[in-house]
Amino acid sequence: MLCVRAPGRVNLIGEHTDYNDGYVLPVAISLETRVYAQPRTDALCQVYSETLDEQHTLNLAELPPPEQLPEGFIRYVAGVAAMVQRHTGRTLTGVDATLCSRLPLGAGLSSSAALEAAFAVLWDAIDDLRLDRLTLARLCQQAEHQYAGVRCGLMDQAASLLCQAGHALFLDTRTQATQQVPIPSAWAIVVADTGKPRALAESDYNLRRAQCEQAVGALQDVLGESVVALRDVSAEAGAQYLPLVEEPARRRARHVVGENARVLAFLDALRRADTAQVRALMLASHASLRDDYEVSCAELDRMVEACLQAGAIGARMTGAGFGGACVALVERARLERFLQDAERFYRARAAYEPRFYACEAVDGAGMCAG
Ligand code: ADP
Ligand code: MG
Repeated sequence: MLCVRAPGRVNLIGEHTDYNDGYVLPVAISLETRVYAQPRTDALCQVYSETLDEQHTLNLAELPPPEQLPEGFIRYVAGVAAMVQRHTGRTLTGVDATLCSRLPLGAGLSSSAALEAAFAVLWDAIDDLRLDRLTLARLCQQAEHQYAGVRCGLMDQAASLLCQAGHALFLDTRTQATQQVPIPSAWAIVVADTGKPRALAESDYNLRRAQCEQAVGALQDVLGESVVALRDVSAEAGAQYLPLVEEPARRRARHVVGENARVLAFLDALRRADTAQVRALMLASHASLRDDYEVSCAELDRMVEACLQAGAIGARMTGAGFGGACVALVERARLERFLQDAERFYRARAAYEPRFYACEAVDGAGMCAG
């Protein structure tokens, strides 16, 4: 029996920048998805999700297109298989697999990328493909585009596959260069799930993406073809030329331009363990997502307030938004007290059941030890 683990992630800063060729800073967290698998002698792939109590079967030798598959987790598995098969020109080995997860699904912690990463690592091992991590991440991203219909950037898959324990992963999504940035050991990472499920996330996500492209088109008219993505717009150029872009694309673009600058400033603050600067940047990121990008909601705003009131170094929404979770950085010495207070403050003002997870920054996906 083989076992693969693949972590979820929180993003410390750099939200909705990864499909604009920008910068992100995710951390793989100690909430993981596991796949237990037995290779078969044929190309059948039977996957049972313990989380959902649901089973599906695929024939890897004749993978159907996504629209012929039931909606749900089997599309991610089929997508990974399809992309790896296309890339390698091989038919993968069938498996009997059981899937379980401590990650809440749809909470903005990338359970979908964890699922994809787990199967990518599984087939890489069984079929001795020896693909590098970045290639696996790109194939998982393609799977999510083509089989789940979400035109996501590379962040989630890269985080689940490339992170190192104790570090955040700085990823330049244009060059795909990465850098491991140590997290001060006195800081704990807390995931604060608002309990509010995301609504209409896919369509809103794809709409934001289209609005960013619209802003790029308008900026090209004045700045020329050198603007390929919002990544190419500096804070100064943004201040000067964004007023020429129509609303709401103008505010969407303002968020992205500002957020890229905040990631770079945050990197510097993290290296210096500068709590005041980390806090200011996380709060500015949240405010920009709330007011300009309009992907927050009352519960996420309340959760950020509750975390700050409970003494967090900083807090912001994480993931696509419209519900889901916040990330907070907390002094380890104050962690117990923080968890109690933040929960009390949030409950006093929100109708949903929150869940708090104190997480470690862990290694990206791999075969389980032992
Ligand atoms: P997120 O990635 O933020 O958790 P998504 O909507 O992108 O949210 O992905 C959630 C989907 O991923 C679920 O609806 C399900 O289809 C699939 N999924 C993730 N983990 C599991 C699991 N353990 N069992 C079954 N399906 C899963
Ligand atoms: Mg996802």
